[in-house]
Amino acid sequence: MAPSADPVSRIVIENAAIATVDAHDTEYASGHLVVAGNTIESIGAGRAPEDLENVVRRIDGTGHLVTPGLVNTHHHFYQWITRGLATDHNLFDWLVALYPTWARIDEPMVRAAARGSLAMMARGGVTTAMDHHYVYPRGSGDLSGAIIGAARDTGVRFTLARGSMDRSVKDGGLPPDFAVESLDGALAGTEAAIDAHHDASFDSMTQVAVAPCSPFSISTELLRQGAELARRRGVRMHTHGSETVEEEKFCHELFGMGPTDYFESTGWLGDDVWMAHCVHMNDADIAAFARTGTGVAHCPSSNARLAAGIARVPDMLAAGVPVGLGVDGTASNESGELHTELRNALLINRLGAHREKALNARQALRLGTYGGAQVLGRADQIGSLERGKLADLVLWKLDTLAHASIADPVTALVLGAAAPVTLSLVNGKPVVEDNHLITADEDAIARVTRDEARRLAQIAAGA
Ligand SMILES: [Zn+2]
Repeated sequence: MAPSADPVSRIVIENAAIATVDAHDTEYASGHLVVAGNTIESIGAGRAPEDLENVVRRIDGTGHLVTPGLVNTHHHFYQWITRGLATDHNLFDWLVALYPTWARIDEPMVRAAARGSLAMMARGGVTTAMDHHYVYPRGSGDLSGAIIGAARDTGVRFTLARGSMDRSVKDGGLPPDFAVESLDGALAGTEAAIDAHHDASFDSMTQVAVAPCSPFSISTELLRQGAELARRRGVRMHTHGSETVEEEKFCHELFGMGPTDYFESTGWLGDDVWMAHCVHMNDADIAAFARTGTGVAHCPSSNARLAAGIARVPDMLAAGVPVGLGVDGTASNESGELHTELRNALLINRLGAHREKALNARQALRLGTYGGAQVLGRADQIGSLERGKLADLVLWKLDTLAHASIADPVTALVLGAAAPVTLSLVNGKPVVEDNHLITADEDAIARVTRDEARRLAQIAAGA
């Protein structure tokens, strides 16, 4: 007789407030959650059953809130080593200022920047990250492999949006000629990343999306053939869209239509697509996103930093558009942590047309969890705390000076200071314990990222 499989080990959390972010926004003032292996086995009010077998940890969550892990839906990891530059620019001026530096990145720099970006997000409660990487200088090494290796080392669930640029200044685009790939090179590199790294399984830790950069840095043909590639391979599609008035003007001048119509004409609306920013959307654009199921990565801090404007998130949600949150690259959002985006999504949208009714704390938490899972195409697996879903969750400590006098835990989490993370689990495994990353040495990462930032600055200065 074959030996039976090892009994699955269990982690029990109890006596904690729980915000499940399920379809009914179910919450427990004091509840329990049982993780079995990499899956949520049970969740509910009161204490966990006493007679569970093979419990390896029983955690008293008194003074804590448990939520789904945060999901980041837009980022550019490499920018971790070019933070704090061109600080008073709009998008196009900022890009033109930074492209020459970015074009000099190499594999050790990208690896260091990815580790820095991932460490910062993970210690702040992110359990699923993504990187939209679109700068692939010739001879710079295996950048996709370096980024994916960094995500694996950090222990977070990850989507690499394999980006590309092939429209340089000589073709009417914004990036300099030396910063772009050829059309064929971009498509081949993207397909190679899918071949090497994409895992479509339920509990996948690594997925790859097709992600040409933006209308002003890519050819129409790259959009068309990129969509064809993504759909042939069954992977998702990501790009930047409708970020600034300058981009809108660019699209009208070059293509005779606005960004959303241009994306639709090239096959880039659909329930397998999510787009960063979507700030300048009229009613017809929002209706097109809703009709096609196209998702949005809302990046309020970056939009403010680059003076892009306020995305119409309440109107998108009312129309049924899936919306998640994004840090965006840390050259336009130096904090690099997603809690800031929960808070700023709420605050900045209240400065828009809907004022105090724009978003509440629970809607902000939903954007940063379930909404993110939706736009990454993983809402069946992560984004809410429900029986059978993957155990990606965060235990936030809310009983210290920063939060203890706020009675409602979700309000404390969203409107208060960034809360310490007592424990985060990804796929049932601890990534943060007692507010420290346990999968990596934060001080060592800080030193290496500082050194690589200096090396890049020196190379760029001598270019
Ligand atoms: Zn971006």
